[in-house]
Amino acid sequence: MSTTKTYDAIVIGGGPGGYVAAIRCGQLKLKTLVIEKESWGGVCLNWGCIPSKALIAAANFVERSKHAGTMGVTVSGVAVDSAKMQEWKNGIVKKLTTGVQGLVKGNGSELLKGNARFVDANTLEVETAEGVQTVKATKGIIIATGSRPVEIPGFQYDGKQIISAKEAVSLNPLPKRLLVIGGGIIGMELGGVYSKLGVDTTVVEFLPKVLATMDDDLVNVVTKAMGKSGCKFITGAKAQGYEKNADGSLKVTLDVGGTIQKVDTDVVLVAVGMRPNHEGNGFEKIGLAQDKRGHVVINDRFETNVPGVYAIGDVAGGPYLAHKASKEGEIAAEVIAGMKSARDWRAIPAATFTHPEIASVGLFEHEAKAKGIEYKVGKFPFSASGRAMAVMETDGFVKVIGEKTGPHHNDYKVIGVHIVGPEAADLISEGALAMEMDAFVEDIGLTIHPHPTLGETVMEAAKAAIGEAVHMLNR
Ligand code: NAD
Repeated sequence: MSTTKTYDAIVIGGGPGGYVAAIRCGQLKLKTLVIEKESWGGVCLNWGCIPSKALIAAANFVERSKHAGTMGVTVSGVAVDSAKMQEWKNGIVKKLTTGVQGLVKGNGSELLKGNARFVDANTLEVETAEGVQTVKATKGIIIATGSRPVEIPGFQYDGKQIISAKEAVSLNPLPKRLLVIGGGIIGMELGGVYSKLGVDTTVVEFLPKVLATMDDDLVNVVTKAMGKSGCKFITGAKAQGYEKNADGSLKVTLDVGGTIQKVDTDVVLVAVGMRPNHEGNGFEKIGLAQDKRGHVVINDRFETNVPGVYAIGDVAGGPYLAHKASKEGEIAAEVIAGMKSARDWRAIPAATFTHPEIASVGLFEHEAKAKGIEYKVGKFPFSASGRAMAVMETDGFVKVIGEKTGPHHNDYKVIGVHIVGPEAADLISEGALAMEMDAFVEDIGLTIHPHPTLGETVMEAAKAAIGEAVHMLNR
């Protein structure tokens, strides 16, 4: 008969929410177990954030090599070895997934591979390779089960020709043609990768534009650049289904504003969103409140309606971002340890790793307008940045949005920073810090930025918002 092991805290799910929660629990001297049914590191480390970024870097390398002649560098014989690329990418995944297990253990927490199910609010049954184990938590259980790709009618995943992002980061050999359904973040990132690697790629988007939630001026820079590298877009189009051609390829039917269009392809990547993993863990057994999409309902301390049960990350609602999940994991651990922590951040930055990248924090301009906010925008183009010229990455701009707070020309509080351009994802942290500190646009402008750097562009955009840009005429 198996014995029940008792812990202070148990975390279900070993992704960027769950493993971070387990590390923080360990730091806080809670006796902790983290349970993972598939792969340590979850979507992020195994087939999401990290693997896709490796492929994006490789694809950008290929693309840049085509333009190296402008810099006086002759590059010839550039070829893509997809097997080698996979090997390299898998090596990074291995290093990181091994690393996080080491970090969890190093902080004193335990790991268990298996599928966990609630028996009651503080007891779980875990189906492991060695049989079922029962574990109990005396202080709290954190649900961090994440999310998975949505499936759409007419395109049932087969893992080979109809794939999700999970398989899309492991394509080897590369198909000749790829049709991406969904011009959201995944569709644009991976569509960009494969078009640069020489795959004939088409992105199909249901709405009138790709990356529909973002301001048009940001998105236009990216679609133009992706178009140049060979990616095609069909917007306002609903993918209805497909049939197999005699040669094994696929004929996909699109409804483009009422007109039927057929597109031949070898592989279809469906990237139309993610849905929470809320089934199979016995949530109903403990009466856990969930919204109509299945997200576990939580308060600002990540407590659910069931005392002692917490939820973080994608399963607790959007935005579906690894860094949000990690932050929530830290806070849930602190709450279980008896600290006063609660969610109190002003804004969550987000980055889309297209080329150029788009990164944002706070309100988009169209959102500020819709809210009736009195605001000013400062924009500074990378084409006016010496550093951007020197690294041959002049597409894009920084846009700083300030809300009017008083009568003076500099009474504008930062409510949004948006960057489309080189290293946007890294540069956005300054915007996040500004928002976290309730900064004024002038504060960014007053901060001395090292020269020559891409960061100066953020400073100049902030100055432009109050008519004080130096390396551009203020209009
Ligand atoms: P998404 O919600 O970003 O985009 C899905 C797109 O598919 C939408 O534009 C939608 O209009 C379109 N669509 C839906 N049904 C369609 C149909 N039948 N035909 C054509 N188009 C259709 O979803 P995603 O790109 O799958 O990403 C999933 C989640 O993962 C997002 O929430 C995102 O935040 C997250 N993610 C983040 C990053 C990052 O931070 N860099 C990277 C990848 C994914």
